[in-house]
Amino acid sequence: SDSHFPVPLSPSHVDYSLHYPQLFPSSDQIDSSRKIQFVDIGCGFGGLLISLSTLFPETLMIGMELRDKVTEYVKERISGLRVANPGQYQNVSVVRTNSMKYIPNYFEKGQLSKMFFLFPDPHFKEKNHRRRVISPHLLDEYAYALQVGGIIYTITDVEELGEWMKSCLENHPMFEALLEKELEADPVVNLLSTATEEGQKVARNGGQTFQAVYRRIAPAS
Ligand code: SAM
Repeated sequence: SDSHFPVPLSPSHVDYSLHYPQLFPSSDQIDSSRKIQFVDIGCGFGGLLISLSTLFPETLMIGMELRDKVTEYVKERISGLRVANPGQYQNVSVVRTNSMKYIPNYFEKGQLSKMFFLFPDPHFKEKNHRRRVISPHLLDEYAYALQVGGIIYTITDVEELGEWMKSCLENHPMFEALLEKELEADPVVNLLSTATEEGQKVARNGGQTFQAVYRRIAPAS
């Protein structure tokens, strides 16, 4: 349960020296201008983060994952890559947490530029929809943590969930869909279906995918 993992009191309590030791050698000399900008929610085995790490070497990124063993696997995967590729993969980390509860403990207002929700658990039954990681209520939290212009990327192989995520985003006042030409120009969009372990499984089985990519907009004045 939640009592088994520590939760930072606030975003300023997140220990960057623990996550990015080469970039933040000591916890009391934190360069507060440099903050985590990408978060992969329910990162699973970490495939997306590993790809993003070298694509955006200057950007700090983190995965949030509920399962303890999976989180430990990702930690070891990252340390292995750091050892094998000196100077690389220093910008990527993972934390075991429940993203549905603790996003505000990790990220302050407008801190994030990208949030990823790749192949989240579908929670089919109506009464379980409140467990979905995209919901009208959680989108309020994500809109708070995202900077204006920041992007939410979602993908699933479950058509019903794809429609749900899209309609939640479509109906939220703080998000607008990216245009087709913007999706084509964004190097990250290709990774949605190819970079994660779940995406690769779906592709191997020839499954269809449904994506929704939305931008955080400024409030109407
Ligand atoms: N995104 C990965 C991929 O595409 O391979 C993993 C997809 S897997 C189907 C969904 C993941 O979300 C699981 O690893 C699960 O443990 C994690 N998860 C579910 N609820 C979560 C929560 N509330 N907070 C953090 N992670 C969660």
